Amino acid sequence: MPLHIHDTLRREKRLFTPRDASRVSLYVCGPTVYDYAHIGNARPPVVFDVLVRLLRRTYGADHVIYARNVTDVDDKINQKAAREGVPISEVTARYEAAYLADMALLNVSRPDIAPHVTDYIPAIVDQIQAIIDAGCAYAAEGHVLFDVSSYKNYGALSGRNLDDMIAGARVEVAPYKKNPHDFVLWKPSKADEPSWPSPWGEGRPGWHIECSAMIEQTLGLPIDIHGGGIDLVFPHHENEIAQGVCAHGHAHGDQAHDEYARYWMHNGFLTVDAEKMSKSIGNVLLLHDLVQAMPGEVVRWALLSAHYRQPLDWNQSLLDQSKKSLDRLYGALHRSSGIAALDLDPPADFLKSIEDDLNTPGAMASLFALSSEIERGMTAGDLDAVAQARGRLIACASILGVLQADPAAWLEGDVSDDLRVEVDSLLEQRAAARAAKDWPEADRIRDRLNELNVVVMDGPDGATWRMKG
Ligand SMILES: [Zn+2]
Repeated sequence: MPLHIHDTLRREKRLFTPRDASRVSLYVCGPTVYDYAHIGNARPPVVFDVLVRLLRRTYGADHVIYARNVTDVDDKINQKAAREGVPISEVTARYEAAYLADMALLNVSRPDIAPHVTDYIPAIVDQIQAIIDAGCAYAAEGHVLFDVSSYKNYGALSGRNLDDMIAGARVEVAPYKKNPHDFVLWKPSKADEPSWPSPWGEGRPGWHIECSAMIEQTLGLPIDIHGGGIDLVFPHHENEIAQGVCAHGHAHGDQAHDEYARYWMHNGFLTVDAEKMSKSIGNVLLLHDLVQAMPGEVVRWALLSAHYRQPLDWNQSLLDQSKKSLDRLYGALHRSSGIAALDLDPPADFLKSIEDDLNTPGAMASLFALSSEIERGMTAGDLDAVAQARGRLIACASILGVLQADPAAWLEGDVSDDLRVEVDSLLEQRAAARAAKDWPEADRIRDRLNELNVVVMDGPDGATWRMKG
């Protein structure tokens, strides 16, 4: 089954056909780097990493171009820099580095392009001017506002009707806005805030315009797939389309949105213990803390354990289950480590699941079936079957971005260096005792390993071990 993806704009699952199969383009809205990312922010980069891995397998590694931006100027960044008395670049460099390090622990590959807003200010200014020239934006009191009434299909992505929005508006409206839903493309900066020159005065871009300008600069229009979290559908992505379409004078075209992005994908919300994450409840979980407390692959597996469009509840039992699942798969790889894996494609049932709008729970079921085949093959001594199942399991795992650690190291787990040294030395003594047929000594060593909570596994290449648990 070729790849089908659910398109938020058309509200249906559609066959994916790229505009140009030799250059498949994908853009995902990236982090605003003013603090550590919370676990909800980690869901889109992991989900779209699986998509990119699948696209690269289908179209060739060099025929997919993936951009994820970095928002490095923003009110929250300005506030943090002002509080610390440092330039914004110091804040953004610190949190971008942390973000990338944490993403690496989740096996999230780097995007091909990571455009930073502050590198694209002239292009942003040019796009704003083009929108004004097209009659879809206006300058007022140092601001430039997008005129939502000028774009015929405003609301098409989110399914909102502009008249209903206006009727329901309760926000206090700035005096320079013609319409309460007109949004900022450019705004003046205060004296101590970063600013750039523009035809409308010194200032900085609004948030939405950065993505439409950088997409055009880095990927070219239209892109194949635009992704992000469901919270970005409105207003961020709705506004991106309006800007991207109107900058090219297509404000009145019925299908003009096709000139911007051909497929829109959005991942569902993440809750923590069935509650929305919020600072007031005090349940905000930072990715940076989670990857210190557990292997990044456990976090990744947990994030992929529900279908990406479904809500995902983050809780202890999800993490326990994820760890257990990975232990089982690593266990099969470890038990069969003496047998070379064949270089094979993933099995048809795995591809059927993953190409069906990234059905990761279905794809995970295929991994368990393959690990059972390995176990059966090992028990029956059917080495051909083991070599095949190993090859298929490794191929599946490379698309999901899991099972990337050394199985023995994974099973040994997170133990202190002191314990590691003691266990390794005990295993050497045990091998020597066995070779000398000194059974009382071998028994003494076994008892000591038991005390340490260590399980020893004898394999073709000698003994390995893991912690009980
Ligand atoms: Zn964006």
